[in-house]
Amino acid sequence: MKTAQQLLEQFWGFTSFKPLQEEIINAVLDGNDTVALLPTGGGKSVCFQIPSLVQEGICIVVSPLVALMNDQTQNLKAKGIKALSISGGLSFDELRTLLDNAIYGNYKFLYLSPERLQQDMVQGAIRQMNVNSIAVDEAHCISQWGNDFRPAYKNITVLRELKPLAPIIALTATATPEVLKDTIKELQLNVPKVFQNSFIRENLSYKVQFAEDKLYHIQKLLKDNTGSAIVYVRSRKLAVETSDQLNSLGIRAAFYHGGVSPKEKKERAAAWREGRVSTMVATNAFGMGIDHPNVRFVIHIQLPESLEGYFQEAGRAGRDGELATAVILYNTYDKTLVERQFIAALATPDGLKKLYRNLNNYFQISYGEGVFTEHAFNFTEFCSRYALNTLLTYNALNTLDRLGIIQLSQEFGRRSI
Ligand code: ADP
Ligand code: MG
Repeated sequence: MKTAQQLLEQFWGFTSFKPLQEEIINAVLDGNDTVALLPTGGGKSVCFQIPSLVQEGICIVVSPLVALMNDQTQNLKAKGIKALSISGGLSFDELRTLLDNAIYGNYKFLYLSPERLQQDMVQGAIRQMNVNSIAVDEAHCISQWGNDFRPAYKNITVLRELKPLAPIIALTATATPEVLKDTIKELQLNVPKVFQNSFIRENLSYKVQFAEDKLYHIQKLLKDNTGSAIVYVRSRKLAVETSDQLNSLGIRAAFYHGGVSPKEKKERAAAWREGRVSTMVATNAFGMGIDHPNVRFVIHIQLPESLEGYFQEAGRAGRDGELATAVILYNTYDKTLVERQFIAALATPDGLKKLYRNLNNYFQISYGEGVFTEHAFNFTEFCSRYALNTLLTYNALNTLDRLGIIQLSQEFGRRSI
């Protein structure tokens, strides 16, 4: 039997593990339910893929997006690893054949959506498979408290009944303690080993810049960019407009939002991945599963909706490990808006409590417990200076920086990376 390290070299060509990968792999191999909480780009896939290669049997992978499944199966196949995914539009016979293969064909991975788990035929087949482990990708989708709640994720618990002995490994980049706790509960994990990495990305610098003329600023940032970029906006209209404007300034841009047809989405994502288009101007519809190595800039020209969302979006930069930058551009209008919303949020009955909870969530991520109690300091003053409900302000970012949760660049008075 090959060791995890040998498999990493043989199939992926990497000579060393990323932080926590090895610990997570060992926990799964020891038969533990395991939670792998690593930032986007932290290398979660390897954490369930290698255990299945070390052992006999097949790993069932539940994944939220067809695109994600196909991507991963293609990647595995390209390495000579036997992997299947149940995608939509299969005929009865095709599905039967596929499931038979998964039972008898020495496959190492079967990817499927949570919806598929409702099908009797699929359940019956899984019962017959030699399942070595169950991986739940984007596991936070099972929690109603998270951003990406997917009711069908509740079906996953059927796997526990079908295969009580297979350890479950839950993978996510969402780290709020509430969502984590809920995810563990909903997946019915049994005294799981939880591995959680710092969300600091050494190669990624976070900046918040004042820019009255945002377009001019984007152009300045991107004109010498040799890699790819994402510009995040919060409306479809602004996505279209900004993309047009960038094109007229000589930056090859495309737009992407929830209203773009599936076919167009696919084509644009491919054009961006292949570098025919350098910059994707997008709403948060351009998100989950975007794994493109050389994104040098992620630019938000409107304040992101939440810290959680922001980490995910900014985290798409620099996945190749080279230096990359996440920038929030704001102008006088944004500043006024934020201040107004902040005051309004504080004025609601639960406003203070919510702010407090949000902040403590993030303190818990990095320290394992909330560091502030409501009595320890003048909370109102703290909030009014640094944070705003879930809206990310430049001040909130600065606070996160001071607490070591993220690292801002030199321009913001701290180390440049
Ligand atoms: P996540 O699911 O956590 O966002 P992925 O599993 O998609 O991350 O991995 C992100 C990138 O990191 C991929 O390109 C992957 O090949 C790479 N990677 C994974 N493990 C290692 C490693 N040990 N050394 C170097 N690169 C790695
Ligand atoms: Mg992933």
